[in-house]
This record gives sequence, C-alpha cells and structure tokens, in this order.
Amino acid sequence: MKKIKVPFLDLRVLDLKERSSILNAVETVMNHGIFINGPELTQLEEEVAGICSRKYAVGVNSGTDALFLGLRGLGLQSGDEVITTSLSWVATANAIALTGACPVFADIKEDLNIDPKSVEKLITRKTKAILAVHYTGRVCKMEVLRKIVDQRGIMLVEDAAQAFTAKRNGQPAGSFGDIACFSMNPMKVFAACGEAGMILTDDEALYNKITTLRYNGTVNRETCVQPSLNGRLDTLQAAILLRRLASLPGVIDRRRDIAGQYDMQLSGLGSHFRTPLVNENEYHVYYTYTVLAEKRDELKVFLEEEKGIECKIQYPVPMPNQPAYRGWTVAEKENAEMLCRKVLCIPSHEKMNNDQVRYVSESIKEFYG
Ligand SMILES: *Cc1c(COP(=O)(O)O)cnc(C)c1O
Repeated sequence: MKKIKVPFLDLRVLDLKERSSILNAVETVMNHGIFINGPELTQLEEEVAGICSRKYAVGVNSGTDALFLGLRGLGLQSGDEVITTSLSWVATANAIALTGACPVFADIKEDLNIDPKSVEKLITRKTKAILAVHYTGRVCKMEVLRKIVDQRGIMLVEDAAQAFTAKRNGQPAGSFGDIACFSMNPMKVFAACGEAGMILTDDEALYNKITTLRYNGTVNRETCVQPSLNGRLDTLQAAILLRRLASLPGVIDRRRDIAGQYDMQLSGLGSHFRTPLVNENEYHVYYTYTVLAEKRDELKVFLEEEKGIECKIQYPVPMPNQPAYRGWTVAEKENAEMLCRKVLCIPSHEKMNNDQVRYVSESIKEFYG
C-alpha cells in the first residue's frame, strides 16, 4: 500500500465557496459595526434554541464558560456536590469546582458515557445536580438519568459540547437537561473560527440570571447584582456560526457516512479492536470516531509513523486521576481507567475522501494481521 497522509482534522478554510461565505459574513458585521450583542448573535441564539427544542439560548465565550455560567445560574456553591462522568475534557470538572461545589466522579460504560447505576451509588444529601456529558457525540441514557433526578428533586445538566444535533429516541441533545451547554470551538462539529459556546434552558428566570452572569453580573449599565466576569460571544463568531449552521447537515451526513464505512471495514477484528456500537435509538454525530483497541499505544505509533495517519487519545487520563482532582474527591472509575488504556480516535472528518477511509481501515487490519 502506498503511504497516504491522513490528518486527524483539517481546520483550514480552503474551499472557495465556504471561504467567501464566511468573509461575506465578516463584511456584514464590519458594515454595521455592532461587534458585541449584534443582530447575528440574537439570530444564532434563536436558531440554536429552535434546533434543540428549547425556549432560550445564551451565547457565550466558550463551552467552558457555558458550563461555568450555567452551573452558577443554577445556584451551585460550596458544600454542594455534582456528580459527573470520569471521562471527559477537564473543562467539565473544572466548571463544577470553580462554582465552589465538589465534583464527584461516576464510572462509565463501554459506550464511554456515564453509567446511571454508578451515579445512583454516589448520590448523597449534598448532591445538587448530575452533569452528563454526551461523549464522542452520542447522547447519554437521559431517560434513566431524568428518572433518577426527578425521584430525588435534583437537577440535570447536559455537557453537550460534542453532540450538537445528536439525538436519542428522536430527541435532540440539549433538550433534556434543566440547562444544556454547547461548545463551538474550532474542533467541534459545529465550529466557529475561534472560541464560542452556548447555554440553553426553558426557564425564563434562569435565562435572565445567566444573561446577567454573562456580563459582569449586570442588569443594565448602572447596576451589578452579582459578581461575575465577561463571557460574551462576539458578533463576528455568531455571524460565522450562522453560515456554518447552513452547511452543518451536509457535514454530519458525511461524518455518519464515514463512520458507516469504518463500521463495515473494521468489523471482524474480534475483541482486539471494537468499533463504536450504536443502537437503533441513537443518532450519533461522531465528534470523534473512537475505537477500543488492544495494544493501543503500539497501534498509534504504527499508524502515525509507518502509515502517516494522525490519531488522538481522548483522553489518556480519567478526570479524577488528574493532579487537580486526585485525592480530594470521591470517584468510581474502574471502567474508566480500563477504557482509557484502549480509546483511540481515528481520523473521521468531512474533508476525508473514501480512499483515505479505506487506507486507514487497511492499515489497522495490517497491524492486527
Ligand atoms: C470542548 C469541550 C468542552 C469545552 O469547550 P471549550 O469551548 O473548548 O471551552 C467541555 N466539555 C466537553 C465534553 C468538550 O468536548
């Protein structure tokens, strides 16, 4: 097989139609000059709320800010506990910790999402919320988590950073929680050309509170009601996101098509190598195509050095094992630790062609040969 270079992602905007559409959006903002809280932000908030079947959306600086401001909006504070997954980007745990609450880490299942049984074991009198992460772009078992929180009168929050327009039983990510948070950073499937995030809710009072928290806790130019920082999303990114929103269905179709090709080509490697098994009721958007591989580290070196295929490990360390969290909080993480040694994200993005997909598959089969 001839060596082909396969990058993990290609974030350049080289397609001339896409580039001119984005530049045109930038020019529109240059023309009206409302760089903060411009009309494009309002339009984006309305459209995203609609797509996710929610009443309100608040655009913010980043997915991290979305989580932090959302959790603060819910009133979390020192002495509270929030149960989250052991496997996510550290922003998830950091947002909890920075409200003053204590993150408590639940274990995960083979689908890499939080295990509701583990969650139930960790609930205490201090538990105020469950923060579920739709990992890799697949929605968690929200009907089970909803039952758990309703029985106990606690809150449910979605970290849907990886899962914009993913669905479970036909219901979109971002529509399940008391609040839901998205990231639109350049790596995400729905991506800005810079940092961006969004918070969704159906609760008007919460929406007003989060809007206040987004800008220094102010209700108008004169009055600050609560200390906060500046977490606003700029109009330029909102304008770019609106353009990207129009082409998003095509991007997701292509990612799902590539995943389908991998599923077929990589079946039959036995227990050495497992592709993400997706159930009928799940609509996965494949933020990453994450496989479970024996001899993962050797496979990664082989793919990168011998074959020119760039891969990523998301993530090599469960959050409770990070130096920031080790030792001061409760964690169930046996499966997470085991699965962290196997997870590998192989290239799967809309700019790949079918020859590259086949080349990746053939190279993996050659490794296990
Ligand atoms: C990307 C991501 C975040 C953080 O989003 P930023 O926009 O990078 O701040 C939070 N949680 C998860 C699961 C993510 O993938």
